[in-house]
Amino acid sequence: MKIAVLGGDGYCGWATALHLSQKGHEVAIIDNFLRRQWDDELGVQTLTPIRPLSERLRVWQMRSGKTIDLFVGDVADFDFLSSMVKQFKPEAIVHFAEQRSAPYSMIDRKHAVFTQVNNVLGTLNVLFAIREFQPDCHLIKLGTMGEYGTPNIDIEEGYITIEHNGRKDVLPYPKQPGSFYHLSKVHDSHNIMFACKIWGIRATDLNQGVVYGTMTDEIALDEALINRFDYDDVFGTVLNRFCVQAAIGQPLTVYGKGGQMRGFLDIRDTVRCIEIACQNPASRGECRVYNQFTEQFSVLELAQMVETVGKKLGMNVEIDHLPDPRVEAEEHYYNAKHSKLIDLGLEPHLLSDALLDSLVTIAVRYRDRVDASLMLPQVNWREPRNDRRLQQNLTARASLGGRSSKRPARAASKGKKR
Ligand code: NAD
Repeated sequence: MKIAVLGGDGYCGWATALHLSQKGHEVAIIDNFLRRQWDDELGVQTLTPIRPLSERLRVWQMRSGKTIDLFVGDVADFDFLSSMVKQFKPEAIVHFAEQRSAPYSMIDRKHAVFTQVNNVLGTLNVLFAIREFQPDCHLIKLGTMGEYGTPNIDIEEGYITIEHNGRKDVLPYPKQPGSFYHLSKVHDSHNIMFACKIWGIRATDLNQGVVYGTMTDEIALDEALINRFDYDDVFGTVLNRFCVQAAIGQPLTVYGKGGQMRGFLDIRDTVRCIEIACQNPASRGECRVYNQFTEQFSVLELAQMVETVGKKLGMNVEIDHLPDPRVEAEEHYYNAKHSKLIDLGLEPHLLSDALLDSLVTIAVRYRDRVDASLMLPQVNWREPRNDRRLQQNLTARASLGGRSSKRPARAASKGKKR
């Protein structure tokens, strides 16, 4: 099958492109390297030293004997996107190419506007390009479990049956997103649902949980194929951050009470879920929604799991509770359904001590690349403008022995600065 992976230089996209290529599909990566630019803008780098995309693709060809096509450009540029679709003629488009950090979208007005323009416009362009040039193409779009928020009832997979005043209907599940980023995903979901209805597009909207891990079978083939491992306060995901904090002897930073429950999955399950979605396309006009995660944990539970594994490895791991920079429930009911991908054949890799052990070991291996000043939250949801540079200076002062009123003194930098 011909599959275009939009955002194929990113964390999920790179692992997915390799997996689909390994499975014999004809794959093209579309990316404009925005993600690498955001690292520069924020003064951060992934823990793992990722190579330029051209080098990654060369090494992949050498190792696997398979070629992945590359289209460098902006999905939000319709001329570029439509020329790619006309030239490559994808049978499936996997759309990862969005700004995916909630804190980034909450830095200030500029970042909120950028996030929504990049994400909403990009997805609209994809819908129009499919309609005009490749109407039978299956859109597989990455949404997030964060679209639902944390309602006090079970979360269904996209739709809910409601009885109201004696009448019954199946309606889109209510969305209560918690950031301008999550809102962009909700706007995308509405646009996709509408396009399926009016144009008969086939779409699968995957509400993905938080992804962890870096290794897949394909990435393990060569050091030059290594994937991202983000741990900083803006793009880092929670488990990655805890593993890095354990590796450098910094307390694990739990926001608030830590009772925030979320869905999680291993990157190996992300790539398999996408493969399953490609193999089982939605029907024309159907907008399917799958909840793509395998297990639920509270943030505090994750911290305690890392603490246990760290101690087994001889590390001194402590847990700190910081004031929650986000506006969210710190304890709540959470029960999200996630059976549809399992019904289609997903065999989950569950979070085990062995896997946590390997994540902490990766963090230890690249410990010299850690900038310890980047782990404390510097974006506060309550502020319309967050000056990260100013905050970083405060953090740096705190790490040099001074006290910042916003930072715990124990958050002193122990890692090497870049
Ligand atoms: P990422 O930032 O690592 O990758 C996104 C890629 O898209 C980057 O390579 C970036 O350069 C590219 N991109 C962004 N905007 C673009 C544009 N306009 N044109 C072309 N390329 C563009 O993100 P990720 O972690 O791989 O996430 C991928 C998708 O999965 C996102 O849509 C995200 O919302 C969703 N998701 C991720 C997670 C997670 O834990 N990583 C969880 C839930 C959902």
